Amino acid sequence: MINRSDQPQGLITPGQRAEYMRQGNASAVLRAVLAYGPVSRAEIARHTGLSAPSVTKLTSTLIEAGLLGELAPMEPTQGRPRVPLRVDPERTVALGVHFGLLRTTFGLVGLDGRVLVERELAHGGAEELTPARLAARAAEGVRTFLDEKLAGRRLVGTGVSVGGWVDGARGVVVEHGPLGWRNVDLLAELTGKLPGPLVLEQTVRAIARAELWFGAGREVDDFALVFIGNVLGAAIVVDRTVHRGPGAAAGGIEHLPVTDDPAVRCPRCRTGCLSVAAGDLALVAEARAAGLLDSAPSGPAGGSLDLERLVAAARPAGSGSGDERAQRLLRRRARRAGRAVATLVDLLNPSRVVLAGGILVAEEYLDDLRAEVAERSHRGAAVAEDIVPAVFGARTLVRSSAVPVLERVITEPFTALGLL
Ligand SMILES: [Zn+2]
Repeated sequence: MINRSDQPQGLITPGQRAEYMRQGNASAVLRAVLAYGPVSRAEIARHTGLSAPSVTKLTSTLIEAGLLGELAPMEPTQGRPRVPLRVDPERTVALGVHFGLLRTTFGLVGLDGRVLVERELAHGGAEELTPARLAARAAEGVRTFLDEKLAGRRLVGTGVSVGGWVDGARGVVVEHGPLGWRNVDLLAELTGKLPGPLVLEQTVRAIARAELWFGAGREVDDFALVFIGNVLGAAIVVDRTVHRGPGAAAGGIEHLPVTDDPAVRCPRCRTGCLSVAAGDLALVAEARAAGLLDSAPSGPAGGSLDLERLVAAARPAGSGSGDERAQRLLRRRARRAGRAVATLVDLLNPSRVVLAGGILVAEEYLDDLRAEVAERSHRGAAVAEDIVPAVFGARTLVRSSAVPVLERVITEPFTALGLL
């Protein structure tokens, strides 16, 4: 393997340069198959601009490496039968591990982004929430899981995701309020306990990367993912890369002001910001205060359960037209979220805004959100069609966690598999 960081550009030998070019071309082939597969070699040549002989050579290398597979030949309309190729969904897998507030979730994800099998470990009491305890339990759970489920597949590494402020490049959780973590060197804690190589990513950015490769971002090179749920955050994708900025602090949208209502004031930023005006927790608290939900939160997972109950109350059922107060709350939340989205739209002009989080539970209000953006953005009404829900719903954490590892196989296949 070539250590690029230690090697000045001029010292790369012609042979090495050729290898890099071959790897770049192999990646282009993989991407074409991911985007358009199953596809024939001729179609890959058309999509990538590579010559037919190059595609033939590269595809056989990728088949040998277990990354591509052939399907049964299609009936030829003329000439030789065309053999469609697809990304082999089973042979090469990554492990995805998500550390949540209530549980650790992990599973195996195929190179096509499909979750093959997953498992959950509920956290114990508050004393279990230290990084060391969570890491040790996850390691034990993963070991048993892999013994039972890996079944001869090649594991290319482990992607770990966690919420809060995370500097993935340094492997550090800078701050995670609900877990009470500050400056936790999580990658160091996990090294040797989970199968390497290990990659750490913040949850919202990991979701954006999953959407980028396998979901709503597949056909665009830039988009903004806006997560509005129990937590709030954005991930900005430019040229198919998530922007992080110094200290990986990009994407903090929770204190964007979204209402002028003097009754809604955030203790931290002193405005009616997204977190106090449009987060799931704020919405549920408001519904409870209005008598729309029982006064007691329904357990530690109350946020999402209560949100579902609120949405159910608002929905017309049978001959009833649904609770109007619940509808008003949900519409207002969508409008307020729309105000924040409008700010992002005008600032970044993304090709798409991909929405994720609890805001998707109340799908029927997304048009209210779109209308608010259209009214406020200088892009006007046309912007509405570029605001889309994330393709992967709530069960996306395992997939998202694994994606940074899969991404490496897709972009640098030979390096990732140790073939270079
Ligand atoms: Zn605030």
